Amino acid sequence: MKTVFPIERFQHIRTPFYYYDEELLSATLDEIRKQVSDAPDYHVHYAIKANANPVILRQIAAAGLGADCVSGGEVGHAVACGFDPSDIVFAGVGKSDDEISLALRIGISRFNVESIEELEIIQQIAAGMHRTAHVAFRLNPNIDAHTHEKITTGKAENKFGIPATQVAQLLQAAQNMQHIQFEGLHFHLGSQITDLNVFKRLCQYINTLQDRLEQEGFVLPTLNVGGGLGISYEAPDEQPIPDFKGYFDVFKTCLHLRPHQELHFELGRSVVAQCGSLISRVLYVKKGDTRDFLILDAGFTELIRPAMYGALHKIENLSSSGVQSCEEYDIVGPICESSDVFATHYRLPLSHRGDFVALRSAGAYGEAMASTYNCRPLVRSYYSTVEE
Ligand SMILES: *Cc1c(COP(=O)(O)O)cnc(C)c1O
Repeated sequence: MKTVFPIERFQHIRTPFYYYDEELLSATLDEIRKQVSDAPDYHVHYAIKANANPVILRQIAAAGLGADCVSGGEVGHAVACGFDPSDIVFAGVGKSDDEISLALRIGISRFNVESIEELEIIQQIAAGMHRTAHVAFRLNPNIDAHTHEKITTGKAENKFGIPATQVAQLLQAAQNMQHIQFEGLHFHLGSQITDLNVFKRLCQYINTLQDRLEQEGFVLPTLNVGGGLGISYEAPDEQPIPDFKGYFDVFKTCLHLRPHQELHFELGRSVVAQCGSLISRVLYVKKGDTRDFLILDAGFTELIRPAMYGALHKIENLSSSGVQSCEEYDIVGPICESSDVFATHYRLPLSHRGDFVALRSAGAYGEAMASTYNCRPLVRSYYSTVEE
């Protein structure tokens, strides 16, 4: 399932642009469906924020996944792209009144509530609209996801979720709210988690908590374990589809689901990262005093992960097949910021002005985070199955 780059076709497209391998996305979605086919109570939602491109979203909706949204804009966009409101969940620490009203009007399946203050506002707004809001509480389990600090969300010092010490009080409060229907608990530990033991620890945590809450008389119709499964940025061609079997098996073996209890997942990166590449051309090969710079026509306006998280994407020169000699480059963009660097001391075949370069594994948090800084045009996208 190696992505093939149609260089001939690229000659006619202005760089930089995103190129999506829809066959790979389709195979990835098939694999997810296969791994949950024996678990009728499992529901997989796709985290829209990873990539909100309508072509991609329609393909994911058609595969039967639900949507996980973190803004009112995403809720509206998800519906427009074919997701059923009854399969939409809405998380976020700072939902505005307008966003809450919109989600109630659309009739989404679940609010993942992150504070008692938010719960009270949802109750008020739902009462005014004569609606019932279905809510789950997002708990902060204080588990270290062992990932980059900027994408860790489940530790006590992070802004996300409700401390477990407050959960019983919150459940009590919810029981007295006429327009609130309590549906369960939600967890999300962070992103790019490659150590499956992290998810095992989450299961153990939930098992203990669920036993305790049941003793206190609370029933949890659903559990939502969030997303966060990581991908291989080093070897996109060797591991184009993440280890969904290993991931779902953790929950099948470690989590004590009750009969008819639903288990929800919210996968973003692992669904879309490998199917997308940012395609750029070399503008200049600049000789510095101590190093050579490969200056691309793509920068952090198209792909901000390296500048923002220090992320390293695999970089390939698509025009140099057959070239034997390797050189070491600092691969940089054209933006007027020193952080606009994709990689330093990176070995590539001898490269020239005009060569096509692919920044791999860029389907998640790539196009979705693109900007027009420096008055650059917003990046465009092309697809393996659509010819222009
Ligand atoms: C971002 C996010 C996800 C998806 O995370 P991935 O690492 O992309 O799988 C899931 N749930 C919530 C609440 C999120 O904020």
